[in-house]
Amino acid sequence: MTENKYADTFRHKGLRKKLVESIRLKGIRDENVLKAIEAVPRHLFFDSGFLEFAYEDKAFPIGAGQTISQPYTVAFQTELLQIKRGDKVLEIGTGSGYQASILYQMGAKVFSIERQRLLFTKAKEQLPQMGFAIKTFFGDGYKGLPAFAPFDKIIVTAGAPYVPEALTNQLKPGGILVIPLDEGDSQLMTSIRKLPDSTLITTQHGRFRFVPLLGDKSHD
Ligand code: SAM
Repeated sequence: MTENKYADTFRHKGLRKKLVESIRLKGIRDENVLKAIEAVPRHLFFDSGFLEFAYEDKAFPIGAGQTISQPYTVAFQTELLQIKRGDKVLEIGTGSGYQASILYQMGAKVFSIERQRLLFTKAKEQLPQMGFAIKTFFGDGYKGLPAFAPFDKIIVTAGAPYVPEALTNQLKPGGILVIPLDEGDSQLMTSIRKLPDSTLITTQHGRFRFVPLLGDKSHD
C-alpha cells in the first residue's frame, strides 16, 4: 500500500485540537486564529522522521540552521496582525511555510520572502501541493517587496536588529507591521500601526526568541 504523503488522519486532528486548547489557555483569544491552527496540518511541514514533534507547542529545526516557529508564537503574531479576509499580507522569513499557510487559511493573500535558497525551493514546491496558494519569493526581506506594495499587514518571523524602513514604507495607511526587535538572546514583540497620516504608533508585547533576520547573503 502506498502511503499518502499529505494524509491528515483522525489522530493528527485530535492532536491539533489539544494543541489549540493549550494555546487558548496561554491567552490567545482570536477565534479565527485558533480555527486556522486547528485546520492547518502542521505535521506536513515536518520531515517524516520527526512527525511526533509536530503537535508539541515548540519550535523545531527545519534545516539550513532555521526553525519552524512555536505554534503559540505563530498564534500570537497572527493575533497582533488582526487579519481580515482579503488582507494583502507580506511575510519576511517563509521558512517551512507554516505561518504563511495560517495566514492563507484565514483568507489573506500572502506574499512571502525567504533568503535561504534551500528553504525557498522546498516551500515553493510543497505549498501548492498542500493546497496553499502562497506567492513565494527568494530574496532579502530587509528590502520588502516594492513591486507588490503596499500591504495591509506585514509580519517578520525572524529577530530584527531594527525596523527596516522599506517595510514601514510598504505598509498601507491603517496597516500593521508585527516584528520581533532586538539582537541578542530574545526579542521584544513589537507591533507598529501606520495611521492615515502615516504617523507610526509602536506597541510592545513581551519577549520571544527568534533566529536572527540576516543581512545580505554575501556577508555569510
Ligand atoms: N515563518 C517560518 C515558518 O512558519 O516556518 C519560520 C521562520 S524562521 C523562525 C525565520 C526565517 O527567516 C528563516 O527561514 C530564515 O532563513 C529567514 N530569514 C532570515 N533573514 C532573512 C532575510 N533577510 N530575508 C528573508 N528571510 C530571512
